[in-house]
Amino acid sequence: MFRGSAPARAPSTWTLRVSVLDRCQYRCPYCRPGAVAPYVEPATRLTAEDYAALAPLFARRGVTKVRFTGGEPLLRRDLPEIVAAFRRGAPEATLALTTNGQHLAERLPALAEAGVTRATVHVDSLRPERYRALMGDGDVRDVLAATLAARDLLDEVKLNVVVQRGRNDDELSDFLSWSRATGVEVRFIELMNTGSAADYTRSVFMTGQEIANALAAAGGAAPVPRREASAPAARFRADDGLEFGIIASDTQPFCEDCNRMRLSADGRLLGCLYEAGGLDLRASLAAGDQAELAARLGQAFADKRSHHPDVDVERVPFSMAQTGG
Ligand code: SAM
Repeated sequence: MFRGSAPARAPSTWTLRVSVLDRCQYRCPYCRPGAVAPYVEPATRLTAEDYAALAPLFARRGVTKVRFTGGEPLLRRDLPEIVAAFRRGAPEATLALTTNGQHLAERLPALAEAGVTRATVHVDSLRPERYRALMGDGDVRDVLAATLAARDLLDEVKLNVVVQRGRNDDELSDFLSWSRATGVEVRFIELMNTGSAADYTRSVFMTGQEIANALAAAGGAAPVPRREASAPAARFRADDGLEFGIIASDTQPFCEDCNRMRLSADGRLLGCLYEAGGLDLRASLAAGDQAELAARLGQAFADKRSHHPDVDVERVPFSMAQTGG
């Protein structure tokens, strides 16, 4: 339906998602980094110097928000240097982080110091045993404590929950209770079938509408306007006024308002999560030719198209970790 379509109008500001590392210590059954493509070799990863060269070019092209993701971005020891490179090269941009939060407590001060002002923490269950079964070997109580520390230090912190039927859909109200108690906004995410775990994804898939219906029955879910047209989350308000988001990328795609570009850990620039390949910037980076780099980067922005498949169409498998979820 949306395949090949460009955004309805050229965005005036852009968001860049940077996958700084395609590896993760967790094993969420729908993500499985490394399942569809070999991991990027360490020598092939962009370096802090590469990001320093790119940051001013992105700023000039209108990028006003940069989100560091992966894989798990906090596994990259030099993440504060990467953040600082963007702080220097794109001083007007808001710098955000998406993380599973396992190492957030110890890394937060340096990241905030380097320039991160927003964080999204990914938690699929509030119950310690279920969390370990659904995500991996970590303690959700520590992750939630780190999330609150981030809430106290940063400008904005959110919690992402990937909703899986029969696995965690009985916790939707619990997440809203936690949000009510802490003031941290929760966003419920509809599973995207990236092809890295197609059978699992089909077996637990719940549409954004089904998530909204369940929440409406539990305590109200009245639609409220999106904050920005390009925001991925549809917004809802519970009967007591608590707001939350639902992101339904597959069943309710928002391609025409999408202002996101993505930079993979090995330096490929993509206009869409579903795009195969992307524009490889490494040769231009190695040559150190800023003018050529700027021209290629500008071309990728101009060529941005949706590659979003129809929901029922088979898709080219990709790894969310490599492209940067
Ligand atoms: N490791 C970090 C984390 O867990 O948030 C950052 C990378 S992860 C790929 C980024 C986000 O992608 C997670 O918050 C998770 O919600 C989301 N995600 C991963 N695979 C997904 C899928 N198949 N469908 C929907 N969301 C997915």
